[in-house]
Amino acid sequence: MARYTEAVCRLCRREGVKLYLKGDRCYSDKCAVSRRPQAPGQHGGNRRKQSEYGIQLREKQKARRIYGVLENQFENYFRKAENMKGITGENLLQLLERRLDNVVYRLGFASSRPQARQIVRHGHITVNGKKVNIPSYLVEVGDVIAVKERSASEIEHFKALREGTGKSVAQWLSVDYEKLEGKVEALPARSDIDIEIQEHLIVELYSK
Ligand code: SF4
Repeated sequence: MARYTEAVCRLCRREGVKLYLKGDRCYSDKCAVSRRPQAPGQHGGNRRKQSEYGIQLREKQKARRIYGVLENQFENYFRKAENMKGITGENLLQLLERRLDNVVYRLGFASSRPQARQIVRHGHITVNGKKVNIPSYLVEVGDVIAVKERSASEIEHFKALREGTGKSVAQWLSVDYEKLEGKVEALPARSDIDIEIQEHLIVELYSK
């Protein structure tokens, strides 16, 4: 499976915003964006005025990097969003939010989306009682997402999560930290998705 190998903090500095790819470090003063907000490289401090196309492209790259999705896969999400009822940009974000790795992150079972992806790939997650190790799996309303029983009892990371009672999760999800189990209560609305993306720019980009 292809994946990014670039140092992840460079991606944030390239986009000029925090993409929250490294868990707790992103919230600390060690965050590279807080310390060096200019783009990486020798000429990183000299950002040129961007063309309309450049602005649209950067917005797409930002969304792609937040969710850790490769180019082709992102375009597939867009085409699927176009064919759904409703507003294409919102449909696109909803599809990305419904990815199993994102849901594991949103439930608080991982501190970043990359960590959530690894947890899913390593087979620690079940959906409706069956192991699912595909990070791009799209959850549906009513699905129950849980940490596998054996993983929950043997792995320190999951044992520590049991003390996380009281954490708040996205409105479209519910979670029981005692059971290490969450449920999809509804599909996410745009107002539930707290990422700073102007999705209409992505729609404009693909509509050229
Ligand atoms: Fe981005 Fe997190 Fe690195 Fe900060 S610490 S630059 S938010 S990945």
